[in-house]
Amino acid sequence: MQTKYIFITGGVVSGLGKGIAAASIGALLEARGLSVSLMKLDPYINVDAGTMNPFQHGEVFVTKDGAETDLDLGHYERYTNATLTRKHNCTTGQIYDSILRKERAGEYLGETVQVVPHVIDEIKSTIKAAADDADVCIVEIGGTVGDIESLPFLEAIRQFRLEHGREHALFVHLTLIIQTTEMKTKPTQHSVGKLREIGIQPEILICRTTEPLPDKLRQKISLFTNVEANAVFDGLDVPSVYEAPLMFQRQGLDDRLVEYLHMWTRQPKLQPWVDLVETYHNPQGEVDIAFVGKYVNQRDSYESLNEALVHGGIANQLRVNLHYIDSEELEFGSAAERLQAVDGVLVAHGFGVRGTEGKVAAIEFARVQGVPFFGICLGMQMAIVEFARNVSGVKEASSGEFRPNHAQNVIDLMPEQKGKQETGGTMRLGAYKAELVVRSKIARIYQTTRISERHRHRYEVMNEFVPKLEKAGLVFSGRYPERDLVETIELPEHPWFIGCQYHPELQSKPLKPHPLFASFIAAAHGHRTRRQGQLSSGETLETAHA
Ligand code: GLN
Repeated sequence: MQTKYIFITGGVVSGLGKGIAAASIGALLEARGLSVSLMKLDPYINVDAGTMNPFQHGEVFVTKDGAETDLDLGHYERYTNATLTRKHNCTTGQIYDSILRKERAGEYLGETVQVVPHVIDEIKSTIKAAADDADVCIVEIGGTVGDIESLPFLEAIRQFRLEHGREHALFVHLTLIIQTTEMKTKPTQHSVGKLREIGIQPEILICRTTEPLPDKLRQKISLFTNVEANAVFDGLDVPSVYEAPLMFQRQGLDDRLVEYLHMWTRQPKLQPWVDLVETYHNPQGEVDIAFVGKYVNQRDSYESLNEALVHGGIANQLRVNLHYIDSEELEFGSAAERLQAVDGVLVAHGFGVRGTEGKVAAIEFARVQGVPFFGICLGMQMAIVEFARNVSGVKEASSGEFRPNHAQNVIDLMPEQKGKQETGGTMRLGAYKAELVVRSKIARIYQTTRISERHRHRYEVMNEFVPKLEKAGLVFSGRYPERDLVETIELPEHPWFIGCQYHPELQSKPLKPHPLFASFIAAAHGHRTRRQGQLSSGETLETAHA
């Protein structure tokens, strides 16, 4: 079957949740038995998201094949079964990069290279390449209609539709209903007007709104935008983002999509999503987790990690209360005070020295007090630094990232990377296989000794320090055999102390929580139960459980 395309644009303001809408549409179509592919077109000129500040742009999501992409790809993978790669996120920078290379190689044979047709054609072929022979390819266009920089993408999808016809290419537009004393539809009218000026008439509107649109308003929007009233949907705020697919399905969004695309499918099987939402709303208990990082004032910066912790909660029917702690604030010995009342400590990934001593302090607290600890990437590296300094007697232990050319760097560049760190291309990116030690805690958690996880880092554990650290009790429980690199660590005597060089959060899904997060949250709940048992004197562990 020929792939059909759904193009999703947004208007009025950015940050409307286009990514969640695209991912939800993907989930609904999969529930109807269709295969989907998803892609994001980003109008910015950066070639990829790798060089962009997470403060501004949110986390960098890493695909299996090692592309550093927009965080929306994380939503796509969490909601669907699609495996996305570098061709599923395309930026203006990439389009121009590819055109300029071709131009230098003489491929245009003396032609004048122009936005129309060359840039537009390049965009269209990128869209086709992302389809992966799926039944439906969902294409989200970043930015807002009316931005100068998104014009070439809109022109490309307009032409795409002309060439493929409505049954094969559908336009969905997201807008915002402004709520003052009443619901205001004017910005929606303008936004669709702007689209139509460009030559795009959307078939479906999703109006972000806090309350359902009254029928009269739906009729009015329909009249002004030329969209059928039964194709104007409410994009309601939902308590959990995982309710979005059901919220849209209840209104019949997927019915309309398959009808317009002339696809005949079964009714959607959504029981797993229904169960998921049910579990989310009826937790059997809760845990308090300290989330120690340095971009903690912006949730987007750690999107996948936040979600993976929620998934870990769902796996245990527990509510996860995340307490964001800025690692810089921990530097002056306040760790004990700040972490006293939590059930688990997660130390996040990161780059640069700022806040790392606070991470070390948090890790020391968790290690000594027997509080479940999970270290991700830099979080694992700092756990090794902490252990080296405080247990193995490598008093000045550090990382080459902060103290280049220092003799006690337990974390450093590999010899072949030295001198190249500023030139790019030295990061370990994407999926790598690791082998876990038989009977290690981590192998028991995964229930296998062979795993594949995604990476995004430059520095590695220095093997020359490993025997000394092992002697003091640290277990190196996982390695990447081909280059003999450390992948995971654990402390056998501790209730739950695990660090990994990779990013397990990138493969966690609400319907398939990652085993490490599920296990960490379970351990945190165990710690909470013990802690509360100790608090209420006279109670035994059993009664505390009850
Ligand atoms: N900055 C560290 C490195 O490059 C860790 C990276 C990370 O936490 N993702 O190795």
